[in-house]
Parts: sequence; C-alpha cells; structure tokens
Amino acid sequence: MSESLLADASQRLENALKYVKISEDAIERLKYPKASISVSIPVRLDNGSLRIFQGYRVRYDDTRGPTKGGVRYHPNVCMDEVQSLAFWMTFKCAALNLPFGGGKGGITLNPKELSRMELERLSRGYIDAIADFIGPDVDILAPDVYTNAMIMGWMMDQYSILQRKLCPAVVTGKPITIGGSVGRDTATALGAFFVMEAMLPKFDRRPQETTVAVQGFGNAGAMLAELLWQAGYKVVAVSDSKGGIYAPQGLDIPSIRHYKEASRSIQAVYCKDTVCNIVEHTVITNEELLELDVDVLVPAALENQITSANADRIRARYIFEVANGPITSAADRVLEAKGVYVFPDILVNAGGVTVSYFEWVQNRSGLYWTLDEVNQRLKQKMLDAAEPIWAIARDQGMPVRTAAYVYALERLEEAIRTKGTRDYYLNGH
Ligand code: GLU
Repeated sequence: MSESLLADASQRLENALKYVKISEDAIERLKYPKASISVSIPVRLDNGSLRIFQGYRVRYDDTRGPTKGGVRYHPNVCMDEVQSLAFWMTFKCAALNLPFGGGKGGITLNPKELSRMELERLSRGYIDAIADFIGPDVDILAPDVYTNAMIMGWMMDQYSILQRKLCPAVVTGKPITIGGSVGRDTATALGAFFVMEAMLPKFDRRPQETTVAVQGFGNAGAMLAELLWQAGYKVVAVSDSKGGIYAPQGLDIPSIRHYKEASRSIQAVYCKDTVCNIVEHTVITNEELLELDVDVLVPAALENQITSANADRIRARYIFEVANGPITSAADRVLEAKGVYVFPDILVNAGGVTVSYFEWVQNRSGLYWTLDEVNQRLKQKMLDAAEPIWAIARDQGMPVRTAAYVYALERLEEAIRTKGTRDYYLNGH
C-alpha cells in the first residue's frame, strides 16, 4: 500500500464528521498521536551474539483516561502501523465507554525465530526502554498479535522490578496466578460472538441457515469459530497464515482446534477421542477464503486483507471484523455500494479490551470476579455499544462503521469539551 495506514484510518474520521457537530480544533487534534516513542532494544541471543530490535509505543489520545492497548510482535511492525492501531484503540475505548484513551505498541520481529529465553529478555528489555512512558494511570499494555499471557507476565514483573513494588495494573492479559482476569483469553471471541448473535437476527438470519468463513485461526479466530459452531452456525472455511480449508457441508471446529494444537497446522479432520481422520475438503488460499460464497465473513487475521483490489469479488453479505483494520477505506466504499453490511473492528473485537478493563479494575480493587461475572458484564458492555450503534446506522442510513465512529466521536468530543480548553485552544482563546 502506498498510502500510510494512519492516513487511511483517519479517513474514517472524515466520514463520521459529516454527521457529528464537533469543533474543528478538536478534530485537528485527533488526527495526530499525542506521543510516540521508538526504542532500540539490545538482546543477548542464546548463541552469545547481540541483536538490536526496534520497538515502538504510541499514546494516541488520553482525554478519556490512561491510554490502553496491546503490544504486537510481528515482522511488519512499524511506527505507521502502531500509530494506526493506537488510533483505533482510542475509538474502540470510547465506543465501549471504557475510561481509557488509545495506545499501542510493537516490536519488529518474527517471534517464531526466538527461543523462549530470548523472547523473555526481549520483552523485559522493551519494558526497560519504555518504562517512563507507561504506568497503571498513564498507559496500560496488553496482548495483541503473537503476544500472550506469558509475555504479559514478564512485562508486568519487569515494570514492578523497576518500580520496586508490585504493579499488576500496568499490563492486562496476564497469567491468572499473577493478577490476570478469568475470561480474558476468550474475551475477544466471546465479545464478537455476542455482537453477531445480537445483529444477525435483525436480518432474520438463523444459525442453522447461515454459512461462515473465518480468516485467521489465532486466539480470537479459532475460539470464535468454535463458539459459532456450538451455536449451530455452519462454519465452512477456516485458515491460518499458511492457507485454509473449505468444506461446504461444514467443518468440525473442535477437531480442527485439537489437531492444530498438536500439529501446528490446519487440517480438515474429524476426531473421535484421540483418533483424527481427514474429511472431504478443498485446500484454499487466504485470498480465496475471502471471496467464498458464504453468508458471513469473519476476517480475524491482520489488517489490509480486503482492499480495492479484491473488494468487488467479496460475496458475503455480512462482515464482522475481528482483526483490527482488515478492510481499507477504499474497499469500504466498494462494499457499501454492493450492499454488504460491515460490522467494524472498533465494536466487534472490543471484547478483549473490555475484559482488560475488568482486569485493571480487579487489580486496583484487589477483589477478583468469577467467570460468570466477567462474561455477564462483557455481554452487557458489548450490547450497550452494539445496539445504539446499530440504531444510528439504521435510522440515519449510514454504514455501521460510520455509525460506530459517530457514536464514539460524540463521547470523545464531550470529554474534550468538558476537560476545558487548555490542551486544544491554548493559543488565542
Ligand atoms: N490488542 C487488543 C485490541 O486490539 C486488546 C487490547 C487491550 O486489551 O488493551 O483490542
């Protein structure tokens, strides 16, 4: 892509502006991240050599509270990507009415190339480098692509060592034994599932008659595929970074998850106890999966999957964005013209940061909730955002994405206005 990701992301802001009355100064402010840092992290590898990694952390906007967002380990991580992801977090937290602004971080690497101890040294080194930029009331970290609870545990521990006191609330998505919340690992998938279950009946869609393709079989994609399968949806295609499988009669998702766990690869299998047999299927690429003739498409991998190059070939009627930014703004326009309903990332995948918020609350109060409490509150939060966003889209005839931005922007604008003029209008007023 020639255009910057952040420029594309802020295009969504422009679309929403047609519908919200908001001061131009506030909008101008929201187009730029508040603070971004880039750090180099020296890591001693197991073979004794030294390698320097590039890391980033962005605090996009903190009007509504400390900035909040994950840390991504991926070869494509760069400042532009991290800033866009932090921009999305700002709107996601506002849409869900969490008392947070938006942040994001990342390190450029292929984590599969590092040993576990190298990864630990790198994660601790990252915290050493950004410690003055983060904190439980400043900027709170969490997992994202290719980072997990184990890494969050190291990060929290390193920050606590530097502060000389236990600081569990600086990182969410931690292992449960050291302050993690029950239900955080399944939260993104479950949140998306609640949104789908609330939205699809509005189009008279019943699970048994609905086919679904899921791109991405990481934490969120695999879990959501299973929840949909359990609820009776026909999940006909899934994929991971290496490619996918398609079976029009539907796939047995628990078997595929079980097999993937053991073999690290996706296979169309049906397992009885420990015996797995291959079932009839077609091997497809990730691109082919997106263009399948299905009712519902769930991009749950990385950004920029549906662009102006393939948008006109998308056949699904409903898209639920579980990944951040899988559709470009140019592709949005093509899909809109085709009558495709796109339920946006800042709503659909917000379950993760919502339970991160619950984890932060639990860390600060010292009182830990049950799984039922977490999931019930998650459901409430997701519906409290999904229903009004849907009502704006329906009543004012705008795409659901624009409605989500309008809804979040109104809340952000109110916070900016209520906070006073110091930051935004310092000169001349
Ligand atoms: N990385 C996730 C996201 O993009 C979760 C962020 C968090 O829990 O703070 O929403």
